[in-house]
Amino acid sequence: MNKLAKSKVYRRVYKISSGKTKARPIKRLETKIVDAIRSSAGEDAVRLAGLMTRQGNVSEFEIVRSTRLDIQTVRNTLYKLHSSNLADYKRVKDNKEGIYVSYWTLNKATAKELFAKLQKEKLQRFRERLEAETSNANCYFICPSACTRADFTMAEQQRFRCDECGKLMMQDDNTRTIDFLREKVREMEAVA
Ligand SMILES: [Zn+2]
Repeated sequence: MNKLAKSKVYRRVYKISSGKTKARPIKRLETKIVDAIRSSAGEDAVRLAGLMTRQGNVSEFEIVRSTRLDIQTVRNTLYKLHSSNLADYKRVKDNKEGIYVSYWTLNKATAKELFAKLQKEKLQRFRERLEAETSNANCYFICPSACTRADFTMAEQQRFRCDECGKLMMQDDNTRTIDFLREKVREMEAVA
């Protein structure tokens, strides 16, 4: 009875502490790390990072064993992570084998900083595009086959002909593009 009561309380506490409001930031944090790692060191690096997230100081041989990637790929990927400061290592002499083995740890703080930097750059690109689209509202021209899109000056130079297929270009209503970009900027500013 006491045990049951205890577990009920435990479950309730657990439910509260792992409820949506508290669980979300943790999940978002992990996604941030994954995104930063993927964009700077590639998909293999995400697998390595997954392993290093579960434990620190993982030997390169353990990484090879767990990920089933070949040693060269693992070393190249670790090098990429290290050159972006996303992973650190220490070399330890294995007394039995007489060789040096490197042990790797993920640098989560750098991954988060990198993610923030990438997001900032992305937001800046969206802002610039939004600025270009709004200041040239309805001054864009598009090929009916959608091969090219050009602003007024460009389109005029091409005599309003698509430079891919030669079709006459039509005026492009960019209201939806502007709406999309404005929404995107608002979304990103809200979490920045
Ligand atoms: Zn065309």
